[in-house]
Amino acid sequence: MTAAQPRVLLVEDEPAQREILAYNLEAEGFDVTRAATGDEALMMVDEVGPDLILLDWMLPGVSGIEICRRLKSRNAMREVPIIMISARTEEVDRVRGLETGADDYVVKPYSVVELMARVRSQLRRTRPATVGQRLEFEDIVLDAETHKVTRSERAIRLGPTEFRLLSTFMEKPGRVWSREQLLDRVWGRDIYVDTRTVDVHIGRLRKSLCQYGGEDPVRTVRGAGYALG
Ligand code: CA
Repeated sequence: MTAAQPRVLLVEDEPAQREILAYNLEAEGFDVTRAATGDEALMMVDEVGPDLILLDWMLPGVSGIEICRRLKSRNAMREVPIIMISARTEEVDRVRGLETGADDYVVKPYSVVELMARVRSQLRRTRPATVGQRLEFEDIVLDAETHKVTRSERAIRLGPTEFRLLSTFMEKPGRVWSREQLLDRVWGRDIYVDTRTVDVHIGRLRKSLCQYGGEDPVRTVRGAGYALG
């Protein structure tokens, strides 16, 4: 199942560069979607719902900077980190000066190790559970590295789906998730699952979290979905 993997949209027109990057990202466990031009990226972005975008500066047609600006002007994209890849340091200076909204910059030729570190560093901020962070909410602790969950220091055993549900909630406590959003995030968009399945797994998650007592931390928001806290 690929649903828990962070989704990366990789925009690079040179096939060899694109494949090397995609290979390394996939080896790190990322779910990679490739785009060869900025226009392609703009068309694909809603469908992909990326957690991070790697964007080459020099692209045929619309430049990477312009793509970056257009992406960042979309509401849904504000929180999605964009790392720009450019050929020269002068370009990086220009990107900075242009206020494109890029979150980080890498200069070619870059070291893959360094690029991966930057990718993880961005995701630690926006998708901490996908890069093995330890998350806390009230008396609940979730260690995404070891997949262990405790409540008031007592071990809570969760099935894989309940674990992904809880990680999603714990990344953004208080955020209300619709059933469709949870299906997309937890089950993945390629899999057809009825929205009622979400309710079933929420029920299991609640039962597990409350097995030693304590308040139900999952809130049902009528007509909207679910939230943690
Ligand atoms: Ca290029």
